[in-house]
Formats: sequence, C-alpha cells, structure tokens
Amino acid sequence: MNPLVRPLVVLGATGSIGRQALEVAARIGAQVVGLASRSPGPAIAEAAEAFPEAQVAVAGGSSEERDALRSRLGPHRVRFGPEAVLELAAAAGVTVLNAIVGAVGLEASAVALEAGNRLALANKESLVTGGPVLMRLAGASGELIPVDSEHSALHQLLSGLGDDEMTGVVLTASGGPFRGRSREELEDVTVEEALRHPVWEMGRRITIDSATLANKGLEVIEAHYLFGLPYDRIEVVVHPQSIVHGMVRLVDGGMIAHLGTPDMRIPIQYALTYPGRVDSPVAPFDPVGATLTFEAPDLEAFPALALAYEAGRRGGGSPAVYNAADEVAVEAFATGRLGFLGIAEVIARTLAEFDPPEPRTVAEALEIDRTAREIASSLIGGQC
Ligand code: MG
Repeated sequence: MNPLVRPLVVLGATGSIGRQALEVAARIGAQVVGLASRSPGPAIAEAAEAFPEAQVAVAGGSSEERDALRSRLGPHRVRFGPEAVLELAAAAGVTVLNAIVGAVGLEASAVALEAGNRLALANKESLVTGGPVLMRLAGASGELIPVDSEHSALHQLLSGLGDDEMTGVVLTASGGPFRGRSREELEDVTVEEALRHPVWEMGRRITIDSATLANKGLEVIEAHYLFGLPYDRIEVVVHPQSIVHGMVRLVDGGMIAHLGTPDMRIPIQYALTYPGRVDSPVAPFDPVGATLTFEAPDLEAFPALALAYEAGRRGGGSPAVYNAADEVAVEAFATGRLGFLGIAEVIARTLAEFDPPEPRTVAEALEIDRTAREIASSLIGGQC
C-alpha cells in the first residue's frame, strides 16, 4: 500500500470514471476501502472481488438482484440504499472519489466534506447544483480537488499563483461530434450521432452534453465556484485536439497552459496524489509535428453554453435549475421524446419560468433541483 495516498472510497465505481479510478488505485497502491454503485449488477460484484478490503454500498436494484449480490459477496460486505452510500462517504480519513452522475451526487459530496475528507470530484453537478454550500464546507472542514480534466489543469496551473498575478482562466472544449455544423444542420441529428464523441470515451449523459456544449456550460459554472472567479473572467475556446486542457491569463499579458494526452487517468491520479505526483502509464504528448488549433464557440448553433453564462450571472438557484433542466432534457432526447435542439430550448424555458434564491443547504439545493425537473418534464410533456 502507498502510504502517501489516503485510503480510497469510489462512488459510481462501475461507470467510466469509476472504473478508471480503480485502475489508477491498483497501479499506485491506493487502498480501496469503499465501493458504491447504483445497480447491484455483476459489474459491482466484480469490482468488489478485485478489492476484497472494500465495503460495498448499492443505492438501487430489485430485492432479487440484491439477494444475488449479497450471497455472492457475503452478508457482511454489502449494504443497500442511498444511506449506505452516504455512510461510505462519511468514513474517517479517506479520499472520496465522487463519480456519481447527476445532481443526485450532491449529498454524498457534502457528506464527504463534512466528515473532513478529501473530495476528488468528478460529479460536476454537485457544484452546479449546490456550489455555495459545497464551497463553504470545503473551506470549513474538507478539501475539494477537481477531477474534471479542465479544472484539474486549472487547479495545477493556479497552485502557487497569487490572485493578483492572474486575470482569468480559459477552459478548452473539444467541440463534440457536431463542431462546425450550423443550427439548421443540427435539426435532425440522432442519438447515435450525438453519442459518437471524437476524443473522449465517456458515459451517455456527458457525451450528449458535450454535443450540445451544455457540458462546457456546466464546467463554466463549476470553475466559477471552484476558483471564485466572476463569469467575465472565465472563457471557453474550442480546441478539437483536446491536448491543452486549461489556460491561465497572467497579469503581465503572458499565458500558461496545461497540456497532455487526453486521458482521464491523469486528473484522477492527480486528485489522489495531490500535492505530490507519481508516474503513470499514459503516453506523454509529443509536440513535434502536432498542430493545435483554437476557435471561438458558435453560440448560435450551441445556445446551451450561452444559457449557462446567463444562469451563472443571474445567480441564486439558477445554476441548479440549468443542470436539472438539462438532465431531464438529455434523458428525453436519449429516449426519442425530444429533438436535439429541444435540449437547449427546455433549459431556456425552465430558466424563464423558475428563478429561485440561492440554496443555503443541501436540502434547499435538492428542492430547487426537484422543482426544476418537474417544470422541465411538463414542458417536454406538453411538446416544448
Ligand atoms: Mg471536462
């Protein structure tokens, strides 16, 4: 076991980030003490067998599925229900890697920070939905290290840099599968096309969010809370090669950038080993012969990005509304109930209908999330 790395709890252990986190943990010798998933299917059973020291928590599943998992792992290793997941997040002296998808991950993030743990945050919706609450907890007791690749890059660039030395940050966006298309050309795109991401291999929600640029919108809001920056100091540029993950504008006119092969194992590992670094199996980027290009995002074709700035600047509970409406709209698109352009439309109309005040607690943030979901769902039901 690596004594420089805290014991690790992985929430969302069977998803894309969770599986890569377990690979990193095995490689750097991090002791995995907790594993959580939504479903009691074979994937969590296999992960549990690979890490026999880990306690297992499963949020959902039928009683037959739960029985099958219990008999496979033994009665004392696995517990069920959302409370069991929160208990793992509250374990003492651990790093909690939160790779749950969606606003449902907020509670676990808050519990991990409250317990004084390091929160390695891949669940960006936590910050978008409950940013003020989480940042207060991070300042008071826990420690928050972003796992999102762009924010990991910025975290690395900003470490050791004084506030008066920088003027702003730049998030890069790959542009997704529809980069370069006009609004008209996006009218009839299919779910299959939206799921074909040119660079990153990711889960379904984030891949569709990358196609609409809502993912970058969520990341702008995430950066606002993480780094305490106003929205006019957070820029987005499209960079299709995804080699530059983030840039910081310095007060003297210079810029510093973080570059690397696009591979989530790098930001995952950084969040576990920070403030140190160790080697990794990721092939280093070779600058010789490489071409790096940058362009402005097309806000007419991809209005979800502009809407995120709008929601962020309006403040209060609007970022939570933005995320909730997007989650509902993406699900509707993925299941054939909404067109691609309808996703941003649902976000815009939900924001127009609902302007709640800033959440002061996790419960208030989740209440805003719930109401925004109802509004978005009824808009889709009424053919938005
Ligand atoms: Mg990202």
